[in-house]
Amino acid sequence: MIFAANLKCNHTRSSFKLYANTLNKALESTNDEIIVFPPSIAFLEDKCNFIQGAQNFYPCVNGAFTGEIGKMHLDEFSIKCVLIGHSERRALGDENLIKAKFDFAKEHGFKIIFCIGEDLEIKNQNKTLEFLEKQLKIIDLNYENLIIAYEPIYSIGTGVSATKEDINKVLEFISSLSKAPLLYGGSVNENNIKEILAINHCSGVLIGSAALKVENFIKLIKG
Ligand code: PEP
Repeated sequence: MIFAANLKCNHTRSSFKLYANTLNKALESTNDEIIVFPPSIAFLEDKCNFIQGAQNFYPCVNGAFTGEIGKMHLDEFSIKCVLIGHSERRALGDENLIKAKFDFAKEHGFKIIFCIGEDLEIKNQNKTLEFLEKQLKIIDLNYENLIIAYEPIYSIGTGVSATKEDINKVLEFISSLSKAPLLYGGSVNENNIKEILAINHCSGVLIGSAALKVENFIKLIKG
């Protein structure tokens, strides 16, 4: 199973060091794939028992892009995994930038967790599947280092996950388009994780709030 933690704009360099130390110890013997996306200011140079990923980057090696982080900066921390298309970033940019990020990350062989998800309005209009298909149209669904995360916007940070039936329907649909491992994200917690991981085609979870405390994240991993 894949357990990914998106720490968003939380944790500092010093608090993430402690987080990583505790997580490293807990992961000394695990067969699961664990990915953590810390804020980029907190990237660690040390070797970890988990994969460090970047929450965001700019599709360049380096250059005149004020305030951005390029591949050169990720390389310094041996970061080989990126998150693209999270709804909190989609709200700030356009699809062209998402596509440029995907193409750049693919060209450089990064593991990509590509997030898609509809809002409540789309869901209530029964347009979820066509909306998601459109979001997926801009990327190479056969890229061998791709993971797709279904994260309905109405469930992110709300404490209310999508229903088992809805997740099942969506993952079934995505699996008809791509062989990539599929994650679910959106208010995953200790009460619903078992049921979510048991859903057909679900290869893991992307966790926000419930992974902010390392002890909680470890509990979710260890079941
Ligand atoms: C997320 O933002 O990717 C996420 C899954 O958040 P949460 O678990 O808090 O809903």
